Amino acid sequence: MTFDNLGLSAELLRAVSEQGYSVPTPIQAKAIPVVLEGRDILAGAQTGTGKTAGFTLPLLQLMNAEKPASGKRPVRALILTPTRELAAQVGESVSCYGKYLPISSTVIFGGVNIRPQISALRKGVDILVATPGRLLDHVSQKTLDLSQVEFLILDEADRMLDMGFIHDIRKVLALLPKKRQNLLFSATFSNEIKRLADGLLNAPTLIEVARRNTAAESVAQLVHQVDKKRKRELLSFLIGSKNWRQVLVFTRTKHGANRLSQQLEKDGISSAAIHGNKSQGARTRALANFKKGEVRVLVATDIAARGLDIDQLPHVVNYELPNVSEDYIHRIGRTGRAGNEGQAVSLVCVDELKLLKDIERLLKREIPKEVIEGFEPDLSLPAEPIKNGRQSRGGGNKPNQNQRQNRGGAKPGNRRWSGQKRSSGARTSGAK
Ligand code: AMP
Repeated sequence: MTFDNLGLSAELLRAVSEQGYSVPTPIQAKAIPVVLEGRDILAGAQTGTGKTAGFTLPLLQLMNAEKPASGKRPVRALILTPTRELAAQVGESVSCYGKYLPISSTVIFGGVNIRPQISALRKGVDILVATPGRLLDHVSQKTLDLSQVEFLILDEADRMLDMGFIHDIRKVLALLPKKRQNLLFSATFSNEIKRLADGLLNAPTLIEVARRNTAAESVAQLVHQVDKKRKRELLSFLIGSKNWRQVLVFTRTKHGANRLSQQLEKDGISSAAIHGNKSQGARTRALANFKKGEVRVLVATDIAARGLDIDQLPHVVNYELPNVSEDYIHRIGRTGRAGNEGQAVSLVCVDELKLLKDIERLLKREIPKEVIEGFEPDLSLPAEPIKNGRQSRGGGNKPNQNQRQNRGGAKPGNRRWSGQKRSSGARTSGAK
């Protein structure tokens, strides 16, 4: 299969070949012909599958087939994304693939001055990439008219719902013409996504591609068992003793990201935190300094890290395991890209055993475990329920199995680590 078989125009094929792509990815091979037929799609695909080109290329082709009206251009395509970073990246893809076509686009998101966005919209754009909140700000200021939209794309719809955008999405839908083509992309299909899809899509073609990672082979994964209160110390020790120069560290909360970043600075390790409460300028600066090597550690929450494209990132650390197992795969997929070796290290305390088990179930294998000498976990500590952050999907607020088992006294048998190797200088926690 080549791009030439997909029915794309010469201008698009030229832009694609300039990107160095020779073979369409599975999502592109499946989605492009269906979108070109004018059909709605419901696509299960996550970041890294090439989904952006999967919807952008046929969208550009369909839009170019109809001559733009003379005078001010109305917004004819709306692409909604959950985060500013993803919006910026999708916007770049639209410009890049559409460089030989007379189609204009712009990106709008919050956290930056609204005025340049207003003037871009006033000039008229064909394709608008936006996050929901700022989009509605423009609507309420009457600086945006969505009444001519012919194409709606919801990118990472599951993330948008996770981030509480459902009401905003419904408000936006109410502003669009009834007759339009809809493309919905989501990494997961929860009942909520299905409900959204039912109300939105018209006889959609269902497209699913295999998850990108049954965990990339190029990523070496390792778990260090450690007590919660000693994680920061262990992280500093690992960074220092192994001389890691560029490390992306994941925390579960924004507050945790800030605090860890400050503590690392106190340990003499240059660090910056990025999360949704930071201004766009601060996030862009932190990322640029990290890429340049001026900041050694970037501490991020899952949401802020979505869409971050950092080439050749050697180390990812899970300071805390994510509550949603799929996020682990997203996180470690940040390293080991483009043929480079990567390392993903998780610092896991006893409270996180259940999360670790869930992740291993998803990966269909155990992750090697190692206790670092001097950081052996204290087995007399009872596991505590995980605070701050979402429970796993569909899990409600019920205590999980691990929490239930450990309530009212420690049962060492339930907390015993399994599957780890004894390695020199390391001690297995179960053998204390
Ligand atoms: P996405 O899933 O859209 O975020 O894309 C993931 C990465 O794959 C991006 O860096 C794209 O530039 C790249 N990419 C997209 N399509 C192809 C292709 N057909 N061949 C090689 N790389 C691609």
